Amino acid sequence: MNEPGKINLLDLDREGLEAFFTARGDKAFRATQVMKWIYGQGVADFHEMTNLSRALRADLGECAEVRLPDIAEDQLSDDGSRKWLLRLEDGNCIETVFIPETDRGTLCVSSQVGCMLNCSFCSTAQQGFNRNLTTAEIIAQVWVASRSLGNRPDSTRRISNVVMMGMGEPLLNYDNVVHAMRLMLDDFGYGLSKRRITLSTAGIVPAIRKLREDCDVSLAVSLHAPDDRLRNELVPLNRKYPIRELLDTCHEYVGDGRRRVTFEYILLSGVNDTDAHARRLAGCLEGIPAKVNLIPFNPFPQTCYRRSGPARIQRFFEILNQAGIVTITRKTRGADIDAACGQLAGRFNDRTRRRARLTTAAQETRL
Ligand code: SAH
Repeated sequence: MNEPGKINLLDLDREGLEAFFTARGDKAFRATQVMKWIYGQGVADFHEMTNLSRALRADLGECAEVRLPDIAEDQLSDDGSRKWLLRLEDGNCIETVFIPETDRGTLCVSSQVGCMLNCSFCSTAQQGFNRNLTTAEIIAQVWVASRSLGNRPDSTRRISNVVMMGMGEPLLNYDNVVHAMRLMLDDFGYGLSKRRITLSTAGIVPAIRKLREDCDVSLAVSLHAPDDRLRNELVPLNRKYPIRELLDTCHEYVGDGRRRVTFEYILLSGVNDTDAHARRLAGCLEGIPAKVNLIPFNPFPQTCYRRSGPARIQRFFEILNQAGIVTITRKTRGADIDAACGQLAGRFNDRTRRRARLTTAAQETRL
C-alpha cells in the first residue's frame, strides 16, 4: 500500500533512476542493478535484491518503494486472451489485456483512466474521463502481466509486443507514456525493440511530430473514415486535426524508408463500410507508406452501431488489396471477457472531467 513520502521507483526511467542514486551520493550504476531486479526478475521487495548491500537495501526501504496496483480481477478467455482489472491507489480501475498468438504475445496497455475524446463507437468514451495514468501505473501493467504469465520461454506466453491501445489517448498523456515506453525499450527494462511497441492515437498532430523526435516507436492511427465530414462524426478530434493534415504528419513520421503507418479502420455497418468508402480510403492513402488494419466493430451496451457482415468486410478488404494497400482484418479476441478492442471500460466513479477541453489537456502535456 502507498506509504506517503516514499518515491515510487516505477515512476523513473533509467535516466531518472540514475539521477535518484547520484543525488543520494551513490553510484549511477545502481540504477541498472535495481532495474534488473524490478523488470528482469519481477522483484518488488528491496530485501530480495541480494547484490545490494544490506545497508543500501535498508536505506532504500526508508525513502523508496516499488508500488504496484492490486489485481482486482484476472479473467481468462476461451481463446487464451487474458484480462486484468487493476485497482489503483485512488480506487479507480483500469484494464490490461494479453493476446497470445502463435508467433507472439501482445500486451494491450492503458494510458488514462477513461478517455476525453468521445469517439462515438468506443465504450471507453461512454465512461468519460477521469485522469492520466502515472508512468508507474503504465509500466506496472507490463510488470503485473509478465509476472502473472510467468517468465516462460515459449513466445506465446511471453510479452513480445506492446500496443498502447487500451483505455485512453496515449498522446494526451505524453510525458508519462514516453517515460514508460523508454522503460519498455531499455535493455535493463523489458528490452523490446521499437518495432515491437506500437502507439495508437486518434491523431493528435503536434504530439505525433514530437514523438518522432523523442521515441519513434511504431505508429498506428485510428482513421475510421475516408472524409472529414464522416470522421468529424466518428472521431470528434478530427475537427481540430483534419484528415489531410493528419496523413501528412503520419507520412513525415515514417519517412519514405521501410517503415509504415498502420491505419485502423473499424467497420460499422452502413456507416463507413461501402465500396465507395473503400475506394475513397484507398485514394486518401495513395503515396503514404501505409498498412490498413480492418477491425470488425465490437459492440457494447447502448451502442447504436452494428458490425459489418463477413461478406462486406471481405469486399472492403479486396478493394483495398486491389489498390495495392497492405491490408489485414483483425481477428476479434477476448470478446467473451469484454477484452476486445473498444470494450475496455475499467471502473471508476468520478467522471466529472468528461468535458475537460482538449486544449487544456494539450497544454498540460506541453504540446
Ligand atoms: N485513443 C487511441 C487508443 C485507444 S483505442 C486511439 O484512438 O487509437 C484502440 C483501438 O480500438 C482504436 O483503433 C480504436 O478505434 C479501436 N476501437 C475503439 N472502439 C472500438 C470498438 N467498439 N470496436 C472495435 N474497435 C474499437
